[in-house]
Amino acid sequence: MPIFSFASACSKIPEDVLGTLRADVAEWQGSGLSALELPFTDQAFADIAALAEHDLRVLLDLPDCYRVLFLQGGASAQFTFLPMNLFGSASHCDYVESGHWSRRAIAAARPYGDVRVIAGRHGSTLSDAETWDRSPDAAYCHYTTNETADGLQFHTFPEAGDVPLVADMTADFLTRPIPVSRFGLIYASAQKNLGAAGLTLLIVHQDLLGHAQCGTPAPFDYGRQAAARSRVNTPPTFAVIVASRMLAWLRAQGGLAAAQARNEVKSAKLYAEIDDDGFYRCPASSPCRSSISVCFHLPDPALDLMFLQEAQAQGLYHLRGHPDVGGIRASLYNAVPDTAVDALASFMSDFKRRRG
Ligand code: PLP
Repeated sequence: MPIFSFASACSKIPEDVLGTLRADVAEWQGSGLSALELPFTDQAFADIAALAEHDLRVLLDLPDCYRVLFLQGGASAQFTFLPMNLFGSASHCDYVESGHWSRRAIAAARPYGDVRVIAGRHGSTLSDAETWDRSPDAAYCHYTTNETADGLQFHTFPEAGDVPLVADMTADFLTRPIPVSRFGLIYASAQKNLGAAGLTLLIVHQDLLGHAQCGTPAPFDYGRQAAARSRVNTPPTFAVIVASRMLAWLRAQGGLAAAQARNEVKSAKLYAEIDDDGFYRCPASSPCRSSISVCFHLPDPALDLMFLQEAQAQGLYHLRGHPDVGGIRASLYNAVPDTAVDALASFMSDFKRRRG
């Protein structure tokens, strides 16, 4: 029986990529060393990191004025390192509060200065970016493109505005084309669409570098990391190699527009099942439903465990909702295949018929 994982993290890695990684771990390109043993100071690692950056630049059509950083710490660490690096002499920064992860980002920024919450959520609907009360003198304006726990996604990108726009794209990075030039900084943990946990990818406009406040740890000072080509300290070498393999795979799959089309088809299949006859309930209003994090509830939470156990017995793994939200969640990152989604949709239909 095939096993399909819908985990929020770590996510599915394509079979082709896993095959390449097995060979990489056995021996890195005739070097006599495993990929796990490559010194970060070696040219071989510099080459693979450069290849990863090259593929990322091609996928995003990234302008030269943006730097790419390969850091550790996860997006959660960036919640703190962002204000340390970007606050400068501003009196405040602007944050959009749209769900679980943006609330965590807001809480982490508060000790560093005044945080203005410039937009909230209207029940199950995200606020339109045109209604955000953005201030012209904030240090930056932060939002979360996809609220993984809540199943909400901004389907359009805000305009650039007067101050740097900063986005936590952890959940939907590289799942669709991104107008990078509207942003000052984009960050994402790798374990969803870029492979392995341990790597955090930052894309940052060069004008934002070099303003870290005194006391910022060197590995988390964006300017120092950019100057040292992400090698102030040991980068997560194997996670960078995995990311490089994932980026090459994504290019071979047709790039970001093709990924977006596939992800919309996959999520539409599950939403069709959810909307079928009122048995399942989606907490997100239609225009804000995520193509990546499909969240839904059963008529009675007491059925959750039964749903999860029966799904697992059919090879459908890791469907439990975020602990703070409950219910069921299917994460449909780029590498989750159609066959997995078809199997889940069919299971949902069958479960509804039997328990509805
Ligand atoms: N931001 C978003 C949108 C997420 O989905 C997550 C994790 O699921 C995080 C931040 C936290 O990432 P990490 O656990 O790598 O710090």
